[in-house]
Amino acid sequence: TAGRPHSEELYREALEHIVGGVNSPSRSFKAVGGGAPVFMKRGQGAYFWDADDNRYIDYLAAYGPIILGHAHPHVTAAICRAAENGTLYGTPTELEITFARMLKQAIPSMDKVRFVNSGTEAVMTTIRVARAYTGRNKIIKFAGCYHGHSDLVLVAAGSGPSTLGIPDSAGIPNSIAHEVITVPFNDVPALEEALSRWGSDVAAVMVEPIVGNFGMVMPKPGFLEGLCAAARRNGSLVIYDEVITAFRFHYGAAQTFAGLPEGTDLAAVEPDLTALGKIIGGGLPIGAYGGRAEIMLQVAPLGPAYQAGTMAGNPASISAGIACLEALQEPGTYERLDRLGAMLGDGLAQAADAHGIALTVNRIRGALSTHFCAHPVTNYDEAQDTDGEQFALFFRLMLEQGICLAPSKYEAWFLTTAHTEDHVRATLEAADRAFEAMAQTQ
Ligand code: PMP
Repeated sequence: TAGRPHSEELYREALEHIVGGVNSPSRSFKAVGGGAPVFMKRGQGAYFWDADDNRYIDYLAAYGPIILGHAHPHVTAAICRAAENGTLYGTPTELEITFARMLKQAIPSMDKVRFVNSGTEAVMTTIRVARAYTGRNKIIKFAGCYHGHSDLVLVAAGSGPSTLGIPDSAGIPNSIAHEVITVPFNDVPALEEALSRWGSDVAAVMVEPIVGNFGMVMPKPGFLEGLCAAARRNGSLVIYDEVITAFRFHYGAAQTFAGLPEGTDLAAVEPDLTALGKIIGGGLPIGAYGGRAEIMLQVAPLGPAYQAGTMAGNPASISAGIACLEALQEPGTYERLDRLGAMLGDGLAQAADAHGIALTVNRIRGALSTHFCAHPVTNYDEAQDTDGEQFALFFRLMLEQGICLAPSKYEAWFLTTAHTEDHVRATLEAADRAFEAMAQTQ
């Protein structure tokens, strides 16, 4: 790319008006050494263009929703139709029924669904519903899983599985953090220890069944079974945060994915409640949650757990979501994402190896992560114990060659249906040059 003077100028201007210059902290380049983030102005297919007219192959995919690439014609047409018909009524619509049916068919654990506006809202409400249903207050979650920015899930681990959480953000009272216990992912004994200490207070165990927030991390064989069994023995609900994972690997969620570790009994790992977002909005704002009918009966207007939203179920987001899922039903979609994912993941691993750079590639179909380390990454400690400076260097070397990744060593690369073998080939050539340059600085 030929420099980004316009992005730098826009960043200076943005800093005057928007706190930090960005509307979500992950968009800043803080985790990759700082400076102006790239200001994008147009996206089409696998590409987007920045304010200086540099073109990038996009693996950020807006942190996940853009699985069809930018401005997919079927989604664009649905959004235009929705705009022409009025974007918001404040009444129920038939579209919502159509979409709820589609989600239930793909994710049968969701007997009843409710639409909201973001993944944060979806997760936040599953916690409220679980508390209402069980009459208990505490939540157990797993280190490094991200569940949005509501108070209860911005809580960090205390000093072991049997200690209460500490606030992971200013503005969150200790009293709220004390309602949360955080244990390591892929560690059933730690979960059991937490349950043995706090069990009678635990409303729910919440997890990303396949992790997308400290790299792409598969549950180890038996982990989800162990988690569900321990929660059930304790009378706690199981909540799956499938905001990243639903419709990512196949037409369904992680909980219905045949690619879970061999021998996984899908019936035994079915959650009580599920939170959705990202892909199901086709690029417009959305979230959804749902689960077993008797639990969802807690939700207003039927039950005592309140949740509402002026924008919830708006026809524009629902129309985009329906169109996105329709497009994903095209035969061969996920096989193609898998093929391209293998080409990209294997190619990156080989190129790093050829230059003597330690790289752990975790790939699940069209999503992968690149950790600069020699050890496997199966939990958050292992993901933290990787070379952030090397990642920052790699990120910048790729950006200069027109390859856009998320500016954080923890985030995934997402392939879209708009990516082709040519895009992947160009990306691997860029990565080879990046690794070569990195090897020279070692
Ligand atoms: N859960 C998970 C697993 C997520 O990855 C995210 C967002 N990255 C959220 C919840 C929050 O979703 P949103 O940003 O739409 O509020």
